[in-house]
Amino acid sequence: MLQDLALALRLQALDRKIVNLENEIATLPKHIAEIERKLESHTRRLEADRAALTANQRERKKLEGDIQTQEQKISKLRDQTLQAKTNEQYRAFQNEIAYAQGEIRKAEDRILDLMEQSEPLDKNVKAAEVELKRQQQHVEAEKKIARERTAADKEELQRTQAERDAIVAQMTPAFYRDYERIRKKTRNHPIADATDGRCDACMIALRPQFFQDLRRGDKIMFCESCGRILTYNPVVDVAADVAASHQTA
Ligand SMILES: [Zn+2]
Repeated sequence: MLQDLALALRLQALDRKIVNLENEIATLPKHIAEIERKLESHTRRLEADRAALTANQRERKKLEGDIQTQEQKISKLRDQTLQAKTNEQYRAFQNEIAYAQGEIRKAEDRILDLMEQSEPLDKNVKAAEVELKRQQQHVEAEKKIARERTAADKEELQRTQAERDAIVAQMTPAFYRDYERIRKKTRNHPIADATDGRCDACMIALRPQFFQDLRRGDKIMFCESCGRILTYNPVVDVAADVAASHQTA
């Protein structure tokens, strides 16, 4: 097999590996941003529950103050009742007392409602605090994994690039330029196999004469339809080559 072709097959395997590593390196920060967004939504929910609980407590405090005011008013009215000069005055004081007592009952009823509502709110806040803590730990663990993974990927990428450079150095420059041009056009799949008489990338059947020339294997040939570099019974197994590049990495 032509040396350039054998090198190109190894190069293609490395180029796919490089793309995968680059994709993974680019994906990890997005993954982190996504889990951080989830954490934010947990934080917001907790803040909403806390705000509801605070509002509930504030209203209760205000109502308790109102009750005190009404009680003071009642005791003042009772004193005034004792000094009433006429029946009208007396009834007027009694009415005011009854009104204040009604206000106190309303406030007490409302306080009971608020106490009932605060129980589940309090539970929500406590549960949300526990959940948030758990989520924060989860996010930290995920971030650590992502950082380690990224560092390992970057190292692996550097090693693979170096390996690639070494292969490129052995290739005929003109052929390498062809390889690069086709690689960019075919999204890292510049080589196709035509062992069974058709290009396995674009599926076109090769002309008999063209196929015979390819089988002779004395020159590099390109698919007349899609332009890919063609192999016939490649000696270098792509899968084995990928495995080998993993082992040396
Ligand atoms: Zn083709």
